[in-house]
This record gives sequence, C-alpha cells and structure tokens, in this order.
Amino acid sequence: MAQTTRIWTPIDFELDGKQTGSLRLPISSDLSAYGWIPIPLVCIKNGDGPTAVLIAGTHGDEYEGQIALLELARSIEPSEVHGRIIILPALNFPAVEAGRRVSPLDEGNLNRLYPGEAHGTATQMIAHYMATVLLPMADLVVDLHSGGRSLDYVPCALVRPFADNDLDDRQMTMLRIFGAPFSCVTDGKGGGGDTTLPATAEKLGVPVITAELGGGAMLRSYGKELARLAVLRLLDHIDLRVDGALPQPEQTRVMVGGRGGFLYAEAEGLFEPASKPGDEVTAGQHAGYLHSIERPTEAPVGLVFNVSGVVACRRFPTLTRRGDCLYTVMQDFEPAERQ
Ligand SMILES: [Zn+2]
Repeated sequence: MAQTTRIWTPIDFELDGKQTGSLRLPISSDLSAYGWIPIPLVCIKNGDGPTAVLIAGTHGDEYEGQIALLELARSIEPSEVHGRIIILPALNFPAVEAGRRVSPLDEGNLNRLYPGEAHGTATQMIAHYMATVLLPMADLVVDLHSGGRSLDYVPCALVRPFADNDLDDRQMTMLRIFGAPFSCVTDGKGGGGDTTLPATAEKLGVPVITAELGGGAMLRSYGKELARLAVLRLLDHIDLRVDGALPQPEQTRVMVGGRGGFLYAEAEGLFEPASKPGDEVTAGQHAGYLHSIERPTEAPVGLVFNVSGVVACRRFPTLTRRGDCLYTVMQDFEPAERQ
C-alpha cells in the first residue's frame, strides 16, 4: 500500500496570491524531539491554469539555479500569472545549508533516491514528497543544476528520450525555448539512470527540463541569467504568463549523451587537462595527463578521448582517484536515433 508523506506545509496550494513559507521535513533528534527542517517554498497563483514546479538546490553546491529562482520568486507577481508557479530554490535544504552535493543528515544524493520513501531518511522523504505530491500537480518541471564542486559544465539543457513521441516532441520544443548554447538528450545512464527526478516524472507523463549551468561550486552570471530568462520563456510557452518583451532564445545545438562519452581516470594522480567544456574533440585526441604523486620519475599517464563530439563537462579538482569522471563528451543528435 502506498504510504503517505510525513512532510507537510502551512502553504495552501489552492489559494490565490503569493505565499512564502516552507515544506516541513520532520526530524526527531536529541535536541529537537518534535522538530522539522524548513525547505523554502514559494507558491504564486492566480486562478485556474497550468502548474509549473521550479527546482534548484537538488544538489547543494550548485548556485546559478538557486539564485535565478530567488530572483524569480521576488519578481513574479500573481497578477502576471494565469495558473500556479511552485518555486523550491533549495530543495535539499540540508545540503544547500552545508554547501554540499549530498545531505549531511544521511549522505543522501537527492537525484539518486527517486521515487523515495515516505518513512525513509531525510533525503528519501524529500524525493517521495516530490514524487507523490508535487510532480502529480505539475504540467512542467524545471530542475536547475550545475557541476558542483567536482565538475565544470558548458551551459546545457537536458531531457530524457521518452518512449511517448508526443511528450518527446514537447520536450524538444522546450529545449529550443530554453535556449542554452547546447542541449542534450540523455537517458542519464552515466549518472543516476532510473533513480532521478526525470525518470520518475516520465512514469507520471510530466515533462521535465534539466539544466547544467556552470560548476566548481561558484556562480557564473551567464548561467544564472540564462536560467532566469529560460524559465520565463517556458512559463510563457505554457501560457502561465505572457510577456512579449522577453529576448528570443539563442540557437541551441542538440546533442546526445551517454556513458560511451564518459572518460574515467584509470589511475590515481594529478589531472592535467588538455581540453575544456565546450571544446570540439575527436576520438583518439589527447585529453590530458595523470601525473603519479608517488612515482615522481614515472612518465604521466596519457589520456585520450574515446568519442568525437563536444566536451560537456570536465573534472574540476586536480587531485584524482581511480574511477573519477574526468570528462563527458556529447555527440551530435541524429533524428534517426529516436525510437
Ligand atoms: Zn546537480
């Protein structure tokens, strides 16, 4: 039997106007027996219409989306809206507060724990609330990410390839409206696969667009501004608001991603990269070196790209262990690849 969420909120999702508050994530500890952790939440509603759920802070050390959503939460007024906008700028709040990818409460990576557990750990409870309460209400979900501490990303919007062609077409249109320099169609197998928010949303038939906006646990103003404008264009696209003054999206180059384009470290060492995010590379091209720390006179391990395409992301820290992802490479999208 499906279990009911333990997360609750004083915000009434059916009420018109702008409400600011939080989801309340129950916690029972030595110093707070009946306590809760606040997950910031803004609901902007005016009459009937579609619902958009806007998310950042799934990973706590990714900042462009967090700040873009704070700006939108402040600037969008109910009078501009025909429907409902639910904004969660710091969804895994304990991770955001700690400046970490994962939650310090349970080491939970929110985008690896969908569809979650009603009575699970803190991070599992957040995933379960999204899967059972907010995703079913949504006509559109935007989930804003960047590379965090360990990766640096080229600005890129992403969707999963859907078996349902109608939803697929809607998502391809959304990629063009988002207007990132690159777009990527990926099943997420190199990352979270079926444990992610988009995988759960697919089962519910809810379109999701994800974005990678920068990296290195720092703020890139280009990524923040792209996210802010892209979200506004998407809200206009689903008739949630209307603003003829928005700048047109830039042309996007549609690519595909997958584990085949991942380059991993096969040894520990100090990573000296030879390419950067956005670079065009070819299979067999020199990708950098791994210098051994322990064997100073040994030649460094030479790295080569295994596919041709565009570098989507590159490892940010220099210190590297065997198994760390050094690069991912996206390849040009061929429409015939669609199922
Ligand atoms: Zn992320």
